[in-house]
Amino acid sequence: MPLWQQILIGMIAGIALGAFLGPKAEMVKPIGSLFINAIKMLIVPLVFCSLITGVTSMKDTKKMGRIGLKSVAIYLLTTAVAITIGLLLGTLMEPGAGLNMVADKVMVAKEAPSLVSTIINLIPKNPIDALASGRMLQIIVFALFLGVAINLSGDKGKPVAKLFESLSEVMYKLTEMIMKFAPIGVFALMAWVAGKYGMSLLLPLAKVIAAVYIGCIVHALVVYGGLVSAISKLPLPRFFKGILNAQMVAFTSTSSAGTLPVSMRCARENLGCSKSVSSFVLPLGATINMDGTALYQGVCALFVAQLFGIDLSTGQYLTIIATATLASIGTAGVPGAGLIMLSLVLTAVGLPMEGVAIIAGIDRILDMARTTLNVTGDLMVTTVIARTEGELDIEPVANIAGTPVTQ
Ligand code: ASP
Repeated sequence: MPLWQQILIGMIAGIALGAFLGPKAEMVKPIGSLFINAIKMLIVPLVFCSLITGVTSMKDTKKMGRIGLKSVAIYLLTTAVAITIGLLLGTLMEPGAGLNMVADKVMVAKEAPSLVSTIINLIPKNPIDALASGRMLQIIVFALFLGVAINLSGDKGKPVAKLFESLSEVMYKLTEMIMKFAPIGVFALMAWVAGKYGMSLLLPLAKVIAAVYIGCIVHALVVYGGLVSAISKLPLPRFFKGILNAQMVAFTSTSSAGTLPVSMRCARENLGCSKSVSSFVLPLGATINMDGTALYQGVCALFVAQLFGIDLSTGQYLTIIATATLASIGTAGVPGAGLIMLSLVLTAVGLPMEGVAIIAGIDRILDMARTTLNVTGDLMVTTVIARTEGELDIEPVANIAGTPVTQ
């Protein structure tokens, strides 16, 4: 049975067990945490080694710059579209209208880091520290520098290039091994979530949940689907089936950084993206591209405004689009990060912070959808870039479990 089917069965069985056990399902959570830790263990070495290998196999620095620019442009553009969809759904569905909720927690807004300090911090003072703390952008910058330096070193640099190439293949193998446990991990995580959120907690906020889920599905099918068929020229069923493993891990782990090793395998094995493109575009996307988070922030900002009966001006809408784009770039690909960044968006337009506390109660459910969209977006951009660089192999390749995708 292909891995994605096993994971799907795990997911459904988990929901059934969670519904049956209720909050007691918490006891299976450690099994899920084991799986999540195992894939997290791969992120830093896998990203670091494969990014260096990406650069050393590319040689051409012009090409690297071109791919970088193209990726960032598509990432930003699709993010702005995502927030607009979020705002539209928030206006049409009015998730906060008629609700009289009282917040019980006082939230403190997150301060936005200044642009200058963000840029200065791109360069790690201590690369080992960056690797040890898993600071993705710093790791990316160091790996790029190192890759370029290896290329410039000529023959003397070759053994280092070979070492990283071999290491990234080994990490890749390790990903495959760990993914064999995905069905069990996903099963445990779903049981925990389904058991924790009974209907009584979900119903009052059902409209926010519906708005975020509908938004994510529309964005994936219309915007991503459109770009994949128009530019990547991949048949849509192949694209969506090819990324299913990554989507399911994203949905249950709520971490796009954590899903990165799985996304890399999907891009290479199922979608036919070249190693050099996927090892460069995906880590960048997992760090800065968060369309799901942006869309969610659009819906939630309107939800909070409606909840407190505040009318927003056109200027405030534009401020939401601008701050949510920046906030989503700054959001770490870890569970719940988007909620913290929401406080930034709310402050920017002067909305009450209590809104964050209300959303916090159901944030995991929203995080599942937005993380899945975040990861889908990264994979979409990877196919688009691979195609425009002539590095997309349209022939179906083996999927993550080693069985052909066309089966
Ligand atoms: N959990 C999301 C992710 O990893 C980030 C967020 O909380 O919005 O992509």
